[in-house]
Amino acid sequence: MFDGSASTVPDAHDFEAMRRRMVDEQLAARDVRSTAVLDAMQRVPREAFVSADAIAGAFSDNAMPIDCDQTISQPYIVAKMTELLEVSPQSRVLEIGTGCGYQTAVLATLAQFVYSIEFHARLADAARERLRRLGYFNVAIRCGDGTLGWPDQAPFDRIILTAGPPEVPPALLDQLADGGILVAPVGPLEDQTLIRMRRVGNSYPTEQVMSVRFVPMVGAEGWGGAAARGGSLEH
Ligand code: SAH
Repeated sequence: MFDGSASTVPDAHDFEAMRRRMVDEQLAARDVRSTAVLDAMQRVPREAFVSADAIAGAFSDNAMPIDCDQTISQPYIVAKMTELLEVSPQSRVLEIGTGCGYQTAVLATLAQFVYSIEFHARLADAARERLRRLGYFNVAIRCGDGTLGWPDQAPFDRIILTAGPPEVPPALLDQLADGGILVAPVGPLEDQTLIRMRRVGNSYPTEQVMSVRFVPMVGAEGWGGAAARGGSLEH
């Protein structure tokens, strides 16, 4: 067991073994079936997305705190959402909520290009730098309000939200390509439902997948924006 002392600092080989265990015990042993997703989770160095003092817990089966009161998502949730998104090497993906950039890296391993928006400038800058250092070049990160999407680059084949809004922001529905897929946690602050929505012309058939708990999506169409103006807080 890694206890943080100099003689036991894990090397690349140890991290690879820890990722293998994470993939086997937390993902494949549950219901993640896509070999492409399992491979991506094996390849992306999760240990590089947490601070040095948190490395011992990098592979635990839960979300962990990062800077700016935000979190790095639980490995299972990252894998599950990636699988639901059905990303292919042709996909242009929009992600809202870059955080540390871990989900971004998993998506970038599978997609043609990932556009990711992060509200906090400090997190956006750190993720951009980290992803470049790790060699993820098919990624663009912008600091801003992701509830408004990224109109200049729309439409997107896939859209993923990694913070929870009261409802899917209308701009994101507009920016989803016909035939595209959107995966998001939506609903009340304390208890959201993970949904998968497809765009078929101007209808959006939606599946409810499971209960989840994410940090709130802020911004114009998030908590504190539309939710504060309208009745969505009453859910
Ligand atoms: N994808 C991350 C998890 C990020 S936590 C991972 O792989 O671990 C959710 C992130 O969403 C936070 O960093 C938060 O700052 C960001 N966020 C919340 N509201 C947002 C908004 N309106 N636009 C962009 N980012 C937002």
